[in-house]
Amino acid sequence: MTDLLSEPEESMVRDAGTGTAPITNAMTVDVEDYFHVSAFARVIDRAHWDRYECRVENNTRRLIELLARYDIRATFFVLGWVASRYPDLVREIADAGHEIACHGLTHKLVYEQTPREFRDETKTAKALLEDIIQVPVNGYRAASYSITAKSLWAIDILAELGFQYDSSVFPIRHDRYGIPGAARKPHWISGAGGASILEFPLSTKDLGFARLPVSGGGYFRLFPYSITRIALASINRDEGIPFIFYLHPWEIDPGQPRIRASRLSRFRHYTNLAKCESMLCRLLGEFRFGTVCDSLGELGLRPGVGPGVQGSRSVSASDHVDK
Ligand SMILES: [Zn+2]
Repeated sequence: MTDLLSEPEESMVRDAGTGTAPITNAMTVDVEDYFHVSAFARVIDRAHWDRYECRVENNTRRLIELLARYDIRATFFVLGWVASRYPDLVREIADAGHEIACHGLTHKLVYEQTPREFRDETKTAKALLEDIIQVPVNGYRAASYSITAKSLWAIDILAELGFQYDSSVFPIRHDRYGIPGAARKPHWISGAGGASILEFPLSTKDLGFARLPVSGGGYFRLFPYSITRIALASINRDEGIPFIFYLHPWEIDPGQPRIRASRLSRFRHYTNLAKCESMLCRLLGEFRFGTVCDSLGELGLRPGVGPGVQGSRSVSASDHVDK
């Protein structure tokens, strides 16, 4: 708790971690539009998505320009629906040096699909992206982090489809997602069938009595920037591990059409959209970022190399659940 009461020196943020080389954190973007989000799923029928004004192209291009300004390569988890309509956008992301990864096909929650539906949708989405960029797609993130205790079977299917890492587990308690008590660090995760892939869980700051989700999205917009900065610096400096940050293109678009949804959904979606871009610029200037593979590689966790590899920062293969 004391970590959150004392603001780190600027130099500590820049050299967060071991005091030697700064840690490379993972910067990620979930490429979807404002009308795809799960919070609006009750009021926007998937069959009507084509009726909405698409803003994802323009907003994603703005994010590409922003990342270029800070010379940062990121991982973009692209929704299949977006890739099928805007293949040039996917090529632009890849041509800018970023990693293309998969955010599923139609933003259905994993635990609301049967394993067969999930396999078919995910296989189609992966092939769609690989057809566009002509290189293998190794990473996956589920819609609304919906790999939970009841949908861990998805890990076996991801391994079967050739994915090498996943970033869908949010180790907190939440109404729509989360595996409370799951490991907070990157680790090898096994499905019910025994297949293993790397998992980079969404980052949290462990306060002892609770875990604070500080890794991006609505949490980034809701918390004062200073809280995010202090918590993320502490993950690097005190735990010596990278964090993974996520954002959606619509989060830097305060001019997006307003959707009539529940008060809670509107609060989560619209709060501080106008401040998000400037806060993101501060973050990009204050921490070191790379792709998911850059960040995992620095830990000695290389996608494609099986469990048992010892990381340079001592994250072991058996570190599955936090003690
Ligand atoms: Zn999403």
